[in-house]
Amino acid sequence: MPSDVIAIDGPSASGKSTVARRVAARLGRLYVDSGALYRGITWRTLEEGRDPAVPAETLAVLQNLPVEFFVADGAVRFRIGGYEPVAEIRGERVNERVSEVAAVPEVRVQATAWLRAMADKGPLVMEGRDIGTVVFPDARFKFYLDASPEERARRRQGELTGTDVSRVMASLQTRDRRDSGRSTAPLRVASDARAVDTTGLSIDEVVDQIVASIEDHQAGV
Ligand code: C5P
Repeated sequence: MPSDVIAIDGPSASGKSTVARRVAARLGRLYVDSGALYRGITWRTLEEGRDPAVPAETLAVLQNLPVEFFVADGAVRFRIGGYEPVAEIRGERVNERVSEVAAVPEVRVQATAWLRAMADKGPLVMEGRDIGTVVFPDARFKFYLDASPEERARRRQGELTGTDVSRVMASLQTRDRRDSGRSTAPLRVASDARAVDTTGLSIDEVVDQIVASIEDHQAGV
């Protein structure tokens, strides 16, 4: 039996978070933002005054990480030390360091184990970089979302205030390079994933395409 997971992978600002959340709501599945977990580990490492550039420092934090997972508002979420970091994990401080933390193989082993365990909570829509390739290679459905660099920078800029597009694009490209270039679980398209170029498409159009593709498959079309 394949894992009852819809995997949605892609680079930063490809639209996957909003799309994955809506696909989950449409299909009555739990939504999981796997990047939030890497961001949470990065946030905690920085909070403890450790340097994420030194893998041993991140691993010291990870070893004793008081993390707990819970289901709320249709999503699997987490607290660290009894606190759910929401705004904190989206700030520039975490943006700049998260790819370093996510490149540490031991961090990935632990995060992957946590993500796999979430399948016990129900059917999932999980978004990330390596969900279809590594976390759930046997996922029932796999999608890979992308968009042009300019469109991704514009979308991300729309979420921020007071930052110009060229700076946003530079920051996204640095993260893309690190995520695609790392040796463990790099960002790539699973051979059995359906690729969707979201440039010029609205969120609703992308959601409709994904839901239709799943329903067609289930109906044997
Ligand atoms: O998806 P988001 O941009 O929030 O992810 C933040 C970072 O977490 C990515 O840049 C990447 O370094 C890491 N990540 C990962 N594997 C995943 C999800 C996120 O390495 N499955």
